[in-house]
Amino acid sequence: MNTLRPGQDGYAEEVAGFQTSIATQPAVVVAAETAEDVVAAVKYAAEHDLPVSVQSTGHGLTTGTDGLLISTRRLTDVEIDGDTARVGAGVRWGAVIEAAAKHGLAPLSGSSPDVGVVGYTLSGGFGLMARRFGRAADHVRAIDVVTPGGELRTVTPGSELFWALLGGRAGFGIVTALEFGLVPVTELYGGGLYFDAGDLPAVLRAWRTWAMTAPDELTTSIAVVPLPDLPFLPEPIRGKHVANIRIAYLGEDGDSVVAPLRAAAPVLLDTLKRLPYTDSGSIASDPPHPHPYHGTNATVEVLNDGMLTSILEHAGPGAPVETVLIIDRLGGELARREGNGVGWDAKAEFVVRALSVVEDGVETIRRAHAKLFDALAPWSTGRLLPFLYGEHSPAELAAAFPAADVTRLKQLKTKYDPAGRFG
Ligand SMILES: Cc1cc2nc3c(=O)[nH]c(=O)nc-3n(C[C@H](O)[C@H](O)[C@H](O)COP(=O)(O)OP(=O)(O)OC[C@H]3O[C@@H](n4cnc5c(N)ncnc54)[C@H](O)[C@@H]3O)c2cc1C
Repeated sequence: MNTLRPGQDGYAEEVAGFQTSIATQPAVVVAAETAEDVVAAVKYAAEHDLPVSVQSTGHGLTTGTDGLLISTRRLTDVEIDGDTARVGAGVRWGAVIEAAAKHGLAPLSGSSPDVGVVGYTLSGGFGLMARRFGRAADHVRAIDVVTPGGELRTVTPGSELFWALLGGRAGFGIVTALEFGLVPVTELYGGGLYFDAGDLPAVLRAWRTWAMTAPDELTTSIAVVPLPDLPFLPEPIRGKHVANIRIAYLGEDGDSVVAPLRAAAPVLLDTLKRLPYTDSGSIASDPPHPHPYHGTNATVEVLNDGMLTSILEHAGPGAPVETVLIIDRLGGELARREGNGVGWDAKAEFVVRALSVVEDGVETIRRAHAKLFDALAPWSTGRLLPFLYGEHSPAELAAAFPAADVTRLKQLKTKYDPAGRFG
């Protein structure tokens, strides 16, 4: 078991992750190379009464740790057998996308190929084809997990630990490998339409109305983004506050389906085209570099004109705190599927997300986001776990689950982690 302590060579690199707004100083990091290393780490933590946490990429860090951190980044095996992928806990989506494509298949990955498969899937996993196939969690077939008691187990649908891990994440053990179904997709029609901020009211309304009747084969979001004035961005959008409609469509008639959007306002940049699923990361073009960010979200049952006005007031170009605002259309298969794991709100039609880069402390951002979500509160139905970014208390995280699931999770937590050291 390779362990690193503060001050030792390699410690800082092992602790570093994508999210840099949370200072984390574990007493010891275990750089796991095998599932047996994870078992040894969990037993060591029990002997020394240390809290246990886990990191793959650091995209989803929600709290720091001063206990024992298990780093899974070296568990990078990817195997494809028929339509099943089996991956180690350190695998990122990009590796699965590439491996699956060789078999004419694709995983239910999200906007960024750099995100870790396990953290994403245990959070539910809302991906580019979610309205057609549901969440990534719904396609999990088996989970290898080291329980808080130090036992390496394989759990499958029907088991209570399987259910709890898909939502309860590291609070119920350290996953060492995941098996999940792939879908027969090699290509899609995808990319983005960019509009000027001056046209935001018209574009937001046009997208909302159009997205309400979109076919299940189409998953779409709209992002209101202050873009930096940097040379890597194409000239028409560089340095502008834009509305970016993102589309991933599995049908053949993409151009006619998006025609009403192209007519909504003058288009600054149009990147929509047929593309291989291996290029699906270009649809949202998420930033690849580690940075400090904080974000929250709310699911809503409707998106009326008053809500759109509030959204622009609190998170549009004139907002007091610069915010990336993303609205995703839910529904489709997401609303129908019974699903694996902890709850999904089938009534939610959209999720509104706000994300800001942390520059001068997180409190100003929290207050600014709170004003937006207070304004949306009358229509809010809950939160989505994967889009809670940065430091959140256990109570804030629990608010991402239906009340009945919180009760069951608490019961199972007492059973599997009675000392409350995992999470
Ligand atoms: C740029 C970006 C794009 C994103 N796009 C999407 C998207 O399209 N759809 C979506 O649903 N989400 C998306 N997310 C959210 C992402 O799914 C979550 O942040 C997720 O938790 C990241 O997992 P990770 O393993 O990469 O991160 P990490 O920070 O390494 O892990 C996050 C958490 O996952 C759990 N976890 C990780 N590994 C294990 C393990 N081996 N055993 C038990 N628990 C574990 C732990 O609770 C851990 O704290 C995005 C995030 C970012 C930053």
